[in-house]
Amino acid sequence: MASQNNIKCKNCSDFYTNIKHKWCKPCQINKVNSLKNNIANSTSGNEKIDYFIQEAQLKFESYKDTIVEWIPYNQFSDIKEISKGNFATVYSAIWNDGPLQHDEHYEELRRTSNKEVILKRLYNLQNIINDLLYEARVYSIEKRKYAYLKIYGISQNPDTKDYILVFNDGYCLNCGKIVYTYKWCRSCQINNLKNRFENWTSGNEKIDRFIQKMQLMISYYDDIIVEWIPYGQFNNIKEISKSDFTAIYSAKWKDGLLQFDKNCRELKRELNKEVALKYFYSSQNINDFLFEIKSYSINKFSTIPWIYGISKNPDTKDYIVVLSNDYCENCSELYTDIYYKWCKPCLLNNLRINFNFTSWTSGNEKIDELIQEMQLKINKWNDIIVEWVPYNQFNDVKEISKSNFAAVYLAVWKDGPLQRDEHNEELKRTPNKEIALKCLYNSQSFTNDEFLKEVKSYSIEVNSYNRILNMYGISQNPNTKDYIIVLDNAYCENCSEVYTNIREKWCKTCQLNNFKKYFSHEISRNEKIDDFIQEMQFEINKWNDIIIEWIPYNQFINIKEIGEIGFTTIYSAIWKNGPLQHDKHYGILKRISDKKVTLRCLHNSQKITNEFLNEVVKEFSIVKEESSLPNLFGISQNPDTQDYIIVVDNDRCETCNKIYTVICRKWCNPCVLNNLRKAFVNWTSGNEIIDNFIQEMQLKINNCNDLIVEWIPYNQFNNIKEIIKNDSFAVYTASSNQVFSNVLLKKFFNSQNITNEFLNEV
Ligand SMILES: [Zn+2]
Ligand SMILES: [Zn+2]
Ligand SMILES: [Zn+2]
Ligand SMILES: [Zn+2]
Ligand SMILES: [Zn+2]
Repeated sequence: MASQNNIKCKNCSDFYTNIKHKWCKPCQINKVNSLKNNIANSTSGNEKIDYFIQEAQLKFESYKDTIVEWIPYNQFSDIKEISKGNFATVYSAIWNDGPLQHDEHYEELRRTSNKEVILKRLYNLQNIINDLLYEARVYSIEKRKYAYLKIYGISQNPDTKDYILVFNDGYCLNCGKIVYTYKWCRSCQINNLKNRFENWTSGNEKIDRFIQKMQLMISYYDDIIVEWIPYGQFNNIKEISKSDFTAIYSAKWKDGLLQFDKNCRELKRELNKEVALKYFYSSQNINDFLFEIKSYSINKFSTIPWIYGISKNPDTKDYIVVLSNDYCENCSELYTDIYYKWCKPCLLNNLRINFNFTSWTSGNEKIDELIQEMQLKINKWNDIIVEWVPYNQFNDVKEISKSNFAAVYLAVWKDGPLQRDEHNEELKRTPNKEIALKCLYNSQSFTNDEFLKEVKSYSIEVNSYNRILNMYGISQNPNTKDYIIVLDNAYCENCSEVYTNIREKWCKTCQLNNFKKYFSHEISRNEKIDDFIQEMQFEINKWNDIIIEWIPYNQFINIKEIGEIGFTTIYSAIWKNGPLQHDKHYGILKRISDKKVTLRCLHNSQKITNEFLNEVVKEFSIVKEESSLPNLFGISQNPDTQDYIIVVDNDRCETCNKIYTVICRKWCNPCVLNNLRKAFVNWTSGNEIIDNFIQEMQLKINNCNDLIVEWIPYNQFNNIKEIIKNDSFAVYTASSNQVFSNVLLKKFFNSQNITNEFLNEV
């Protein structure tokens, strides 16, 4: 654990909000508030804009966020136009003083001068202030949703009086469109590839069209650009394997793969690229050939072989598909795991030949068989290779717990387990590994299969998410002859029990003990409620589950009535001390102070019944962000009326004050739809049918996971695929979403041919 100096704010001596980057949110709020008075002279002169900026200045959530501000126009130099539309012009410029941001070294807000920025000048809009602030709000408050773009502030040209949004360099300097990871502009890359269509041909129209189609399919900077590769580009051609219809060769591709270079941000070739060539004998039937090669992928996250291009042997006329070389160098079969270039048959051979895995014996046939069985179970490159470990391999043996049947020791394993080195892919031992030894008494006589059962209850898969311990091997105490299971050290340092969650090294018992020992907490003096709270506290199952409490009423300030539902009055309030939160990395429990909460005050609830408490369990949840129910923080009581109060996380939309549609994600469907409708004026495809179609699709959303939500601020259709790509892989491959993205892409490439029937079909 880090020393207290490194984890506490120098200013207020409380724990940092972000320990790693020495960032204290409460202190930054104070600083920004005091700054406001100093920069009073840099006002926009417009009340609405000033109000927006003051509000947005305090909306930061991370050490990386910049402080939104009003930026005087004379701060900009080197202004160059990038693109121009009917409602906005985009410029690049230098901001002389630069944005205000947390500086880790000085632990204060500092400016980064001469910052490259993008200016977006708005004009011709009906309600310029509202539209300006709408767009500013999208990028300031919800900015985390968008890959690269963020807003620095607002400015105004003193001559034209046009308002200007100031962004980071998140626009393509070439075409003015929004860019993504590594400032990759899909639009420019597609244009670039289209311009090259003239420069190459396979001599066959169908193959040309296939390659062009594959090139236009790229949606991510890292996707493979499939090409026609002249046969003369290959050398070092060596046979890997051969069948009646195909043959596979390894080869070097001289010029190599065309790729977006993230450092210099342009297309570059990876010279002398190692590839596999798959020859299709008598592939004169182009349709069959093209059908077959559709099964390869251009996506580098894919676990099927990647396609680099197509070629043709000029002598035999055989067509060739150029693939990533995923064939094992030793045995010429496809790797068991292509991504990690891992071959299971070769691993087992290696263990036999180089590590004498067949020449050892435990002295007991059953144990020998058991270990061999565990070795055959290996299925992944990083699965644990279980082995017989001689007892003299263990140093520093210390007992940590003991029962009638077994004892657990910590020890250091001198040679350590065999593992594949991530870099050179060779098997080697990691010496002096800390492990746990579970010694089973009287296990020398195997009259029953208890020992075998116990061994099989452990896992050889690393990073298993559950309570299952990893096992490395079996050993034997030479004195007692008791057998020993060699296990991962996943025992809590404090209480010596196996962690509740091994991967997170989280111990439930210790977390609850910490809470009781170090945090002031009061009791309700009502037995039923106290029992209920204790029971709920014991329900936690994850490090970030909420430990509910009895919260004294004087902890609440700013209490405002919101409304009434049945016999319940709803208030919003600020909980001064705030709920407990566990910091995963530093193992500390701390309070998040000044938390906005919702109080549900029950009329005439002086008598608490079991039914009432059962309702609480059903209607609220202590699991964060995974449940559709509001999060429960605790129970309180109004000292005047004696009415009981259920304290839950703020479940009201900041904009409309109604209950969020999806409470755990703080997502409000009516407000999202409203914003969508407001945004209709900001974009147009130039085609009314399509506009209506898209508007209709947008207004269909009713869930925070709907992809269109992410799509709102982008008025450029060609961006849709990138955003889907930014989502999880599973969402991307879902068939309905796939259809949707295809529609938009088709529209982009053949937009002249769009008809009503076409959209109906969709
Ligand atoms: Zn502080
Ligand atoms: Zn571009
Ligand atoms: Zn192999
Ligand atoms: Zn513990
Ligand atoms: Zn709302």
